[in-house]
Amino acid sequence: MPNVLFDALLGEIANPGKVFLDVPGGGSVTFDQLETMTARVAGALQRLGVAPGDRVAAQVPKSVDAVALYLGVVRAGAVFLPLNTGYTSAEVAYFLTDAAPAVFVCTPASESALAPIAATAKALLRTLDADGAGSWPAELALSADGFVGVDRGPDDLAAILYTSGTTGRSKGAMLTHGNLLSNARVLVTYWQFTDRDVLLHALPIFHTHGLFVALNVALLAGASVIFMERFQVDDILRQMPRATSMMGVPTFYSRLLAQPGFTAELAANMRLFVSGSAPMSAEVHKAFMERTGKSILERYGMTETNMNTSNPYLGDRRPGTVGFPLPGVSLRICDPASGEVLQTEQVGVIEVRGPNVFKGYWQMPEKTAAEFRDDGYFITGDLGRIDPDGYVHIVGRDKDLIITGGFNVYPAEVEAAIDALPGVAESAVVGVPHADFGEGVVAVVAPRPGADLNETRIRDALRGHIAAYKLPKRVLFVSELPRNTMGKIQKNLLREQYGSACEGSA
Ligand code: AMP
Repeated sequence: MPNVLFDALLGEIANPGKVFLDVPGGGSVTFDQLETMTARVAGALQRLGVAPGDRVAAQVPKSVDAVALYLGVVRAGAVFLPLNTGYTSAEVAYFLTDAAPAVFVCTPASESALAPIAATAKALLRTLDADGAGSWPAELALSADGFVGVDRGPDDLAAILYTSGTTGRSKGAMLTHGNLLSNARVLVTYWQFTDRDVLLHALPIFHTHGLFVALNVALLAGASVIFMERFQVDDILRQMPRATSMMGVPTFYSRLLAQPGFTAELAANMRLFVSGSAPMSAEVHKAFMERTGKSILERYGMTETNMNTSNPYLGDRRPGTVGFPLPGVSLRICDPASGEVLQTEQVGVIEVRGPNVFKGYWQMPEKTAAEFRDDGYFITGDLGRIDPDGYVHIVGRDKDLIITGGFNVYPAEVEAAIDALPGVAESAVVGVPHADFGEGVVAVVAPRPGADLNETRIRDALRGHIAAYKLPKRVLFVSELPRNTMGKIQKNLLREQYGSACEGSA
């Protein structure tokens, strides 16, 4: 039995000497060099005692070595577990305890803080920096270039990606070789990727979008990637003329539009702009079209399902919609309570089924069972409708999830951190429109009588407890939170009342 995902991505290389990752100002790596790097990773993991199915966690900066780590873990038959680089030590402790990885790779700078946590979780700790420094490269140097692959079938796990949980507890989405490969194959065809493509990559690689959608698609197509550390608008403008395609979150596109230097001429070589991970406003879509003559292709996916829908490559890409279910994906709209399948134009919860849909939540059989229907459909928690032409529209999120700059923030987690501060009686966290980030996190706090709280003090106190992107952009004070007769906080009222709280903030 072959190693399903690795063999497809790097098993047979059509152009061994061709550059795969080109890091502006930081060198490049060819397809065959990357293959050798992954052999060394797999060899090192095997030498360290990592067995097929073991987890290997990483909280490392975006780099060529980090990509080799991902692919080498898969090659070794292990399960890759990338962690957001913004997570604090307390957050990392939860993931290591939950997933019990055999090996954990972090940065040299965070080693002393994370060593006790890794020790408690019984994970071997190694370090890797953006520039290739650390104890992990030393481990690789001991490995040989050749590696006899570990067999893995379509149902075996390739990765666990944690999603945030509404109750503050994150869930590990178990993604199989078959999930990842089937989705990448569909996207290559649907979006017409070929070995002539050069993909501009400015997304993080701890999330499904930058890791699986972008890298797996580029590898399968034999395309090259301009691999940028992050989205820096000047750098993107500089690189765009030699690229053919970009995958981004809506914030990328609004930031590009804010640049007078972003012109139709600059984008002339680009055949495809993809947007996803958060809703893109129809205004941005239209402004982009006016500026460049190109229509952004919006798609819809999530950690648990990979990509579900896409606007067409050829045909009408409609602003404000996420297009059609991808080939092989079945999508329906159901009544959230009864599960009854709804008709065209009726709003309900989006449910999906297909080879892209994950295997379940790591060690959470009950949560998993609760989110699947008996006939195999996964209940996404997103609310949507299908229009008479078959386009899917997302109208909101079932669970008050906030998406800020493409990152998910679950209010319950931030509320818990705020409520733990002295002087706070209670709090409610909502997302409100933010010009740059799509949504901004806003906290509404009811102080205890006599407490001396202010915005700066609350934000300062939260730093270090939650990742920076989860910090409220604004903290507002009320004497009492609005509640309905059932005692539930009426977040819709807060959103209305404080809808302009982030106006003018960058
Ligand atoms: P994640 O698991 O981080 O990828 O987040 C998945 C969630 O992002 C989905 O459940 C949707 O709520 C949201 N999402 C992804 N793509 C889109 C899109 N094109 N439009 C609106 N929401 C989206």
